[in-house]
Amino acid sequence: MVKAMTESGTVTGERAVARCDVLGKPPFSDENDLLFRPWLGPGFIATVEAISNWMRQAGMTVRQDAAANLIGRYEGSTPDAPALLFGSHLDSVRDGGRYDGMLGVITALEVVAGFHERGERFPFAIEIVGFGDEEGSRFPITMLTTRSIAGVLEEDDPVAAFAELHDVDGITVEQALARVGLTPRGMAAAKRRKDSVLAYVEAHIEQGPVLEAEGRALGVVSGIAAQRRFEIRLHGMAGHAGTMAMSLRRDALTAASEMVLAIERIGVAGGDRDGLVATVGSLRTWPGVTNVVPGDVTFTIDARAGTIATRDRAMNDILAALKDIAERRGIEIEIIPREDLDPSPCDPRLMALMETAVQDVTGEPARVLVSGAGHDAMIMARLAPMSMLFIRCEKGISHNPAEAVLPADVGEAVTALTRFVRLFADDYSQTQGRHSA
Ligand SMILES: [Zn+2]
Repeated sequence: MVKAMTESGTVTGERAVARCDVLGKPPFSDENDLLFRPWLGPGFIATVEAISNWMRQAGMTVRQDAAANLIGRYEGSTPDAPALLFGSHLDSVRDGGRYDGMLGVITALEVVAGFHERGERFPFAIEIVGFGDEEGSRFPITMLTTRSIAGVLEEDDPVAAFAELHDVDGITVEQALARVGLTPRGMAAAKRRKDSVLAYVEAHIEQGPVLEAEGRALGVVSGIAAQRRFEIRLHGMAGHAGTMAMSLRRDALTAASEMVLAIERIGVAGGDRDGLVATVGSLRTWPGVTNVVPGDVTFTIDARAGTIATRDRAMNDILAALKDIAERRGIEIEIIPREDLDPSPCDPRLMALMETAVQDVTGEPARVLVSGAGHDAMIMARLAPMSMLFIRCEKGISHNPAEAVLPADVGEAVTALTRFVRLFADDYSQTQGRHSA
């Protein structure tokens, strides 16, 4: 049984990958020799058109909402039933890969195409949402379209704050929306009523190396990491590189070097637990010339984990270590908080169903992992219970044309998501007292 499911899954996996590949080139990219699909650009509009056609072939009705999100709906056994939402993003960073975002939409499409072919209906509708601007690759802001659906747009960013943001060509959000007959203020109308959405499910490439390293096609996400960012400014003393004795130096860069290694050590000591990671991604020295001992250094810390507790424990250890090093070296340290994002835990009930679905399809207990990267799902979690499925990708590479997936893995994802919908339907019928289906 499992084998037969997997075999038919491979066929749909091949079609899904082929579709992502088609969408990786013009006219679905705004560049000839690389993939760049910014929100509301010509490639984006062509992509919406192509996917709309595939949605109709899969028995869905298609519309675009007030935020230009593409929404396909496969009706349930009763009209106007609430919906189980699948989704991910249609936009791509410049020189991006073909599967980040797109694979989640196309995989869901294969799931619905299967139900349509078999005439299978559920007591709820299934909708697939292609979000517009998860990456923020056009405007210096992300997930306006996701926040519109989730009904938290204005709460996060007043219209006045984002309408005038512009892309590299000087086109504002307002002008880009006007070209497709929409307005920044009107985007809020995309908001979904909570009682019209049962759950949100997103399949996405892992963008990390864990599944590949463990030889697994699929992983169940427990939540999206809590992020904390700091900027650290160190002030030592600049001096002549030839004349200042080593014993008298207050070198901000050697202090920073020790700090960077301490941050790495604390990150590593956390093991794999709760997906803890800590990174120094940017470091600058002043005056930054060959013959001067660095007087000032600024660097960043980005720490993430599946829970606030794990993240904050690591962050406290890091800051304590930094203060020690600074004191010992006679360096003045400024610690400036830059960002503090809560984690978005996946819904435990949905997660359990997803784990069962993955186990039924792969024949082994599901690997559960934290998502270190942000996704549309973390915004959608504010509207409805949320679940994510990760698909193995080659070497964990993403935001890069080398992004790659195996059609067989995608086939397993389609089979697992199909199984998930049926498990979800059983669960739903039990809680609803088995009506109408
Ligand atoms: Zn993505």
